[in-house]
Parts: sequence; structure tokens; C-alpha cells
Amino acid sequence: MSGVLDGKVALVTGAGGGLGEAYAMALAAAGARVVVNDLGGARDGTGGGASMADRVVEAIRAAGGEAVADYGSVSDEAQADGMIARAVEAFGRLDVVVNNAGILRDKTLVRMSKAQWDAVIDVHLTGTFLVTRAAFKQLLRAGQGGRIINTSSVSGLKGSFGQGNYGAAKAGIAGLTRVVALEGRKAGITANAIAPVAKTRMTEDIDAVPDAMRPEDIAPLVVWLASDASAEVTGRVFGAHGRHYFEYTVETTPGVEPEQAWTHEGITAAFERITATVSAPAPATSAASGGDDAVRAIFEALPRVYEGKGWDASIVFEVKGAGRYGVRTRDDRATFDPAPQGKGDGVVTFDSAATLLALASGKLNPQQAFMSQKIATSSLDVLMRFAKCFDLARAARLARGEEEVEAAPEAAPERAMRDLIGKKYLGRAGFVTAQAARLYIDATEQHDPPYFGEGGESATMVPPMFAVRPFMEGLIAFFEDEEAGVDLTRVLHGEQDMRFHAPVHVGDLVVQRTEIFAVEDKSSGRVVRLKQRLLRDGEIVCEAISSMFIRATTRSVGDKPASAKASAAPSQEQEHPPVVFSAQQEVAADQSLRYAEASGDHNPIHVDPEFARAAGLPGIILHGLCTMAFASRAVVQGACGGDPVRLQRLKVRFIKPVRPGDVLTTEGWRAGAADDAAGVEVYGLELLNQDGEVVLGQAVAEVAQAVG
Ligand code: NAD
Repeated sequence: MSGVLDGKVALVTGAGGGLGEAYAMALAAAGARVVVNDLGGARDGTGGGASMADRVVEAIRAAGGEAVADYGSVSDEAQADGMIARAVEAFGRLDVVVNNAGILRDKTLVRMSKAQWDAVIDVHLTGTFLVTRAAFKQLLRAGQGGRIINTSSVSGLKGSFGQGNYGAAKAGIAGLTRVVALEGRKAGITANAIAPVAKTRMTEDIDAVPDAMRPEDIAPLVVWLASDASAEVTGRVFGAHGRHYFEYTVETTPGVEPEQAWTHEGITAAFERITATVSAPAPATSAASGGDDAVRAIFEALPRVYEGKGWDASIVFEVKGAGRYGVRTRDDRATFDPAPQGKGDGVVTFDSAATLLALASGKLNPQQAFMSQKIATSSLDVLMRFAKCFDLARAARLARGEEEVEAAPEAAPERAMRDLIGKKYLGRAGFVTAQAARLYIDATEQHDPPYFGEGGESATMVPPMFAVRPFMEGLIAFFEDEEAGVDLTRVLHGEQDMRFHAPVHVGDLVVQRTEIFAVEDKSSGRVVRLKQRLLRDGEIVCEAISSMFIRATTRSVGDKPASAKASAAPSQEQEHPPVVFSAQQEVAADQSLRYAEASGDHNPIHVDPEFARAAGLPGIILHGLCTMAFASRAVVQGACGGDPVRLQRLKVRFIKPVRPGDVLTTEGWRAGAADDAAGVEVYGLELLNQDGEVVLGQAVAEVAQAVG
């Protein structure tokens, strides 16, 4: 036998029948050597014997695989340890543990005895803990990573009548899985859970579970989670209803935070808003006829609005949840293809029918939709040319059977941005994930010991500038705000002022709040300052003021207006005290690609050379906030003795674009005497490129004085 698990050793608990048996057989078929554990009891956990595990071991051997039996109980500490020992004795190693053993003692709450409660909690929750703990020790000792696959259930994740003990245990297992994932991350040990539904003896009397949902349908997910293919997947809970696989996610609403303390009546009044999820983009009003029909009608109408010349292409459109359509252009004509094959010359993907309809009705700006990944494409060239040659709004009007008389409506007179001062964009609460932290640390080259994945087991801190990751949500909300009507091609990020109040860690539940804080009109455009706050458990951990310069004219982003340049560029000859710290950073070829991924800022001027050139730049440029992260690292190393918690404030002005291959030098000096009363030292700094030009300047860092 050979397969994706060659050389691996797996333990499956409760593998004498049902799902466990299917898992053990599939793992063996994929090349793993398997310890088949089963107590051999009845459905309620009573009794025991060797026959169940032995039968499965024989079946694996008969199919050419390798397996040994184990008859221990997962809820017995010594026997749980023994299962791991058996794997190592028999096969010399352990790679995968599938915690699957389980029993039922269903009773409604008032009828449930403590013994029934204990029995179920013992086998499921305590059993999963004991086996995982023993396995974890072995996996850490061996140092080659590993896979923990636990078994949760829809009963625990959504609730099920008469299963208080079982539901509590299964919800507990999902929680334990997330924690084990965090603790195992550094050692390459992943932990995930499956909530299966399949016909076994456990569900034999439940009519709602059809015979067609077989344990064999769930087993491929277990093999996948056991394999190298899932190395990056951890801390997650997957549903598997027969062959239907999906993910359970924890959702939070944006919530409400009043200026004053809550009152009893206030909660009653705000309850709807506290619990409201973010509403989906409103579909075009005329889409009343319903998603798929309206979508298809637009694509059908596209050939009638084609205005291209000499373009020979086949374009595939995928609208998530509303079908796949094609348009072919040739000999200055376009035709509709209801069932395109393959990928054509380019695929344009809309994340929902609502996005397409909002674009077609002019409610969503195409650039903003692209930036926030509501539209994606396999070929930017095809997307840009499509936008030029097809008038989507006109196609939508044709599709609705409206007269073609009206010209594109004139843009509404620009509403004074000033009216929007105080407008807030509330974010969704989200966890700081290990993956997000790793991506960010890697994209900003902050491989320093205090940070997650870089120090010891206990290092869970993320770099101070990581806060810009959750802040991105607020920026996108502002850019997408129709009232603000910002044209992205006219925006320059001018300044960023960050204040760090408390370090953020992997596992923190954070939420961002963005507010239009100030608007200043200049002759060449206007400066909009956004105040952003990051909260953890109601406590502000970071504040930022982002100053965006919005040009009045439609020049491309490449040419900075003279006035902005004059006010932005500090005199390079300006005298400053002697440099007390400096650091160098070469900008890698893929830096902005990695940073785009890590920060969620997918503005194509950072990743697509063609797009950047079209915007008047010599090529792609690095995100200003990535350059700022380099500066923050120089300050942490040079002025904070390597302790990021000492960095209290960093304020910079973005002066000149940074490009791949640039070599940046940060230079810092003491700006004035330390404020001993406040316990703060102030530094001035700037970042120069290899030609000695200031790319980031007028920068100030405030650092807490070292204790002792
Ligand atoms: P099953 O009864 O066929 O399998 C459970 C196995 O665990 C049995 O072979 C049993 O002997 C063994 N076991 C019980 N107590 C044990 C102990 N203390 N130590 C070792 N082995 C023990 O049921 P199944 O449907 O295959 O269930 C497998 C897992 O999937 C269970 O955790 C169950 O809660 C979960 N699950 C199943 C479904 C479903 O639709 N079948 C739905 C949700 C969750």
C-alpha cells in the first residue's frame, strides 16, 4: 500500500466500529500504520471486549496494511497513556491521533442523573483531553509535528434536545481543539475537529440520518486532515454530513459601545443593534426578479453594449452562488456563451450576485470592489479591457427592458466631506489568529524573539504595527462609503500616527472603530484624517490617526501635487542631533506581495506592475505602512532595547515611494531631553533610500524609559 500517509503512524480511538472503523481503514489505505483502539462496549459504554478492535485490525491486515489493537478506555489516564506507548512500541513513532471514541446516555435535563452526566463527559471530553495530552507529549518529544483530529458534534455546536451531557462535552471538545491548536502551533502540531453525521450504531434509530450518509464519506476528510496537505489548517471545526463538507465558524456582531455606561433601558433599546450582523450590500432595486435571472440577463445583454475593436478573447464570469457565464469577442462583435468551458483568456469572479448588481446599478465603484476583493480576476489585463469595452450599467438597463434613453447620470454634486466629520465605521470583532500573526511578521521581517513563533512557547505577542491589519477593515469601509465618494486613484496616504497602549497577542479578540475625525481643504485637494482605535475587551490597545490626501484633480497617483510635495518633503540638509541608532532593510522582490496578503491591502499598485504603470508609477511600490513597520523595528531594536512594549508612539510622514530592491536605512536621534516626569524619551527619525533620498520622514518615536 502506498499513499499520502506513507511512513506515518496513526491512533484512532473507538475504532472498533462505526466512524472510527472507517477512519482506521482509510488511514491504513493511505499508507499509515494504525493503532486500532476500542473498549468494545455497548452504545451506552457498558461492557467491553477485544473482539471489536481485533476485527478491524484483521480487516486492515487482510487489505495489506499494518495495524495493532488496543483495548484501553480513553477515560482512564493510565490506559490513555498506554495507547500512545503502544504506537511507539509497535511502530516506533506517532504522527496522527483521531479522538473518536464516544458513548451516549441521552436524557432531558431533569431526568439526567449525575452518573449519566459524568459517564458522557468522561469518555468524550476527559477522554479527548487525556489521549491528546499523552499524544502531545510524545509529539513534542519527537519534534516532527503532528495531527490531532477531534470529534465534535452538531449537538454541541448548535444544541440538541435531550443531550445536555453529550452537547456540553462536544462543545467542550471544540473549545479544547482551538486551544490545542494555539499551543501546538510552534511545534507544527495542528488540531482540528470534525462534527460528522453518518449512519452508525449511534444514529441507527435516528430517521433524520439517512443510510446514504456513510462513515466512508467522512473518512477522506480525516485522511486529508492527517496529511501534509493540511499543514496550515489548525484550530478549525469542520462539518461533514455524509459527503457534504463545510466549516463551523464563530461569528460576532459589530456590537454597540455607548459613550456613557449602559443602563437597563439602554440595553433594551439597543438590543436589536447589539445583535445585528453587518448587512450585505443592498442589491440593485430592480433585482426584484431574483438573483440568478437578473444576473444571467445582464450577461446575455453584454454583447449588445460591446464597443471594443480588434479584441479576440473569451471571458468567463463566475458569480458566486449565481452561476457561470461567458462572453466571446471576435471581429468587433461579442457573443454570449451560457456554458463556458475552462478558463478562457481570463476569469472574472464576483463574490456574490449582490456585488454584480450593485456594480451594474452604479452603487459600487469597480475599483473599490476590486480593492476589497469583491471582484477578482485571473487576468488583470482581461478585466481592465472588459471594463473599457463593455458598459455594465447599460447592459443592466437593457436587461431590465428599460429604454436606453438616459445617459449615464451625472455624478451627484460632491457632498461636503466636512458634513461627515464624526461618522463612524464599526468593525466586526475577530480573533488575532496565529496565521495572521505569522504572515505579518514574515511580511515585515520582524523575526524577533518577543513575537509569536519567534521566541519560546510563551511568545504570543504580535509586533506593535500589526494593529494596521484590523484597521484595514475601517479604511475599506471609508473608501467604500458612497457618501464620502472617495476616488481611490486620487488618494495618497500622507501621514500615520500610531499610539500603542498595550501589546496585542495571538488569541486576542479585537475590534476596530474608525471615525472621520478631521477634514482640511487645501488648494490642491483635501486632507481627511481618520481616527482608528483597536479595542480588546473594551480596552483601547492602539490608536491611530491616518491622514489621507485626496487630490482635487484626476492626475495619476504617480505625480504628487507640487504643494503636497513641498509641504511633505523635509529639507534633507536639515540639521539634526547625532544619529544614535540605525538599521538597514533591503526591500525584497516579493515584499509588497507578502505585505498585501498580510495586511489585507490589495490595492493593485502594490502588486501589479501593469496597473502601477497605468497609475503613472515606474512600477509597483511598497505599502507605506510596511516601510513604517521597518522603522518601528529599528526603533524597538535601537531605542527600546528590543522590548516592543516600550514603544508608545510612532508618527511618520510618507514622502517618497519605496520600490522592490531599494535598500532602506533608518536613522534615529534623540529629539530633546527625556521627559523624566512622564518617563518618556523622544526620538526623531527618518528612512533614506540607497540614493540618500528621504522616503519616510518628519518621524517621531516616543519610548518609555527602561525600568530600573
Ligand atoms: P459508534 O458507537 O459506532 O462508535 C463509538 C466507538 O467508541 C464504539 O466502537 C465504542 O466501543 C467506542 N468507545 C466507547 N467508549 C470508549 C472508551 N471509553 N474508550 C475507547 N473506546 C470507546 O458511534 P459513531 O457514530 O461511529 O461515533 C464516533 C464518534 O463520532 C463519536 O465521538 C460520536 O459522538 C461522533 N459523532 C457521530 C455522529 C454520527 O452521526 N454517527 C454524529 C456526531 C458525532
